[in-house]
Amino acid sequence: MTRLARALCSLHSAALVWLAYCTITTARYGAAWAAILFAAASLMSVIAVIREMDAGDRAYAARHHAPAAEAEDQAALLDDAVRDLDNACCERWWTALGTDHDPTCPVQQPRSDAA
Ligand SMILES: [Zn+2]
Repeated sequence: MTRLARALCSLHSAALVWLAYCTITTARYGAAWAAILFAAASLMSVIAVIREMDAGDRAYAARHHAPAAEAEDQAALLDDAVRDLDNACCERWWTALGTDHDPTCPVQQPRSDAA
C-alpha cells in the first residue's frame, strides 16, 4: 500500500469515526431520518476504505508480477529463436524463409516437405 493510499485510508477511517459519532448522537437526541443518513454515510466510508485497500493490492500485484511474466515471455521467444536456428540447415534456407537451399546443402527440401 502506498503512502497516499494509507493517508486516504486514514482520512476515510477518521470520517467513519466522525459519522458514527454523528449517527449515535443524532439517534439519541435528533431526528431518526438524520441518523439513518449518517449511518448510510458511514457505510460509504467503509466502502471507500475497502476499495482503497483493493486498489493497493492490485497495484502491488501488477508491480511485482508483471516483470516475471514479461521475463517468461522473453525466455519463450528466445527458446523459439534457438529452436529455429537449430532447425536451419543452410544460410540460404534461413534467408529464403525455408523455400530454397544452398547448392551444397544436403537437405534440398522445401519447407512444406520438411517434417
Ligand atoms: Zn539447406
